[in-house]
Amino acid sequence: MSVSRYPELQRIDQEVQECIRCLLSRTRTKSVPGEGSASAQVVFVGEAPGEKEDIEGRLFVGKAGRLLSELLTSIKLDRETVYITNIVKCRPTTRGLSERGAVEWIGDRKPTNEEIAAGVPYLETQIRIIQPKIICTLGDTATQFILEKYGLKPRNISKVHGRIYSADDIKIVPMYHPAAALYTARLKAVLEKDIRKIAGLLEQTTLV
Ligand code: URA
Repeated sequence: MSVSRYPELQRIDQEVQECIRCLLSRTRTKSVPGEGSASAQVVFVGEAPGEKEDIEGRLFVGKAGRLLSELLTSIKLDRETVYITNIVKCRPTTRGLSERGAVEWIGDRKPTNEEIAAGVPYLETQIRIIQPKIICTLGDTATQFILEKYGLKPRNISKVHGRIYSADDIKIVPMYHPAAALYTARLKAVLEKDIRKIAGLLEQTTLV
């Protein structure tokens, strides 16, 4: 492993923290660059930070994050040995205003194409530095983007979850977003099954 990976990743973290490429920089509390091992064999790519991540500046710290940690543990991985990041580095929010224009509530929304475009160069640099063997996409937004980036036909997550794609020197494993299992309980078993594909790939000697 090249020793320069750590400082290179730290430089990206710094850039993300200072990023003003899109309007999310005006509403974020903290940007959320990514975390884990710079020599990870597996990179997990989610969509965007939510409320807790925005406050703490760390990835997947809410309920969905706890499920992600559980899934990792189920295949004997942990957050320190993989790398986890999002396409969009700041929380996309929507605001409900009162008649007088005061903010009454703040909610999450899907990132816009402009916000995705602002985050993509960071994600691409993170992948280039880490050179993972496997990219696991979490949810539809990350899956569509990564499949297209590697010249594969982007398809809805319900059609492609648990499949193993080969592109360049990399395997791509799309999975449902862990948050989906918080709303649709049966998806937890699907996630548990799909993550075992990653364990299987890691066991293959060609990947070691
Ligand atoms: N959902 C994501 O996609 N990423 C996070 O960091 C948290 C929730």
